[in-house]
Amino acid sequence: MVARLTRRRVLAVGLSAPLAPLARAERSIAPARASDIETGTAPGAAARALNWLELHNLHTGRKLRVTFRDASGFIASALGQLDRLLGDHRSGEYREMDRQLYVLLADLAAAAHAEPRYEIISGYRSRATNDKLRANGGGQAKNSQHIEGKAADVRLKGVPTAVLRDIAVSLKRGGVGWYPKSDFVHVDTARVRYWEG
Ligand SMILES: [Zn+2]
Repeated sequence: MVARLTRRRVLAVGLSAPLAPLARAERSIAPARASDIETGTAPGAAARALNWLELHNLHTGRKLRVTFRDASGFIASALGQLDRLLGDHRSGEYREMDRQLYVLLADLAAAAHAEPRYEIISGYRSRATNDKLRANGGGQAKNSQHIEGKAADVRLKGVPTAVLRDIAVSLKRGGVGWYPKSDFVHVDTARVRYWEG
């Protein structure tokens, strides 16, 4: 698959949402300035280079806005910050998350025509935490993708979770679970599947 990347595709991967429709990717490359990318400043509506994320962990209250990739690829220090923000607040542990999860969150926002500003209900969960929640009847899967560092339970600011669910399902990039009662969407980078919690 990598060998088949064209130069244009590589540019799109580097500078914009990799799997966004090409027309959008091309539009967003032109107006994105290096200064926007480097500082993590939100580009204007017309210059939608979604290389940044703003995550607000509702359990810890921590908020982070960071540019996680630029023309050279992923930014390791930014990924580390995101990983810590998505850590297991019950155990204090965190792990390296699948970076494609961050790409997915950015792409979801782009597809929703929204800024990538998320509330985080759950990111990484240690096995001990997951087992405990499961034992209390929380409905967590035994081998949850949260344990694997491939899942997040989120709300996208300004976008109803039912709409976010529809967009996530349409992207076909992994699992999508909709929890209307708690009002969040689970997204992961494992196999494509859908459920309602
Ligand atoms: Zn989840």
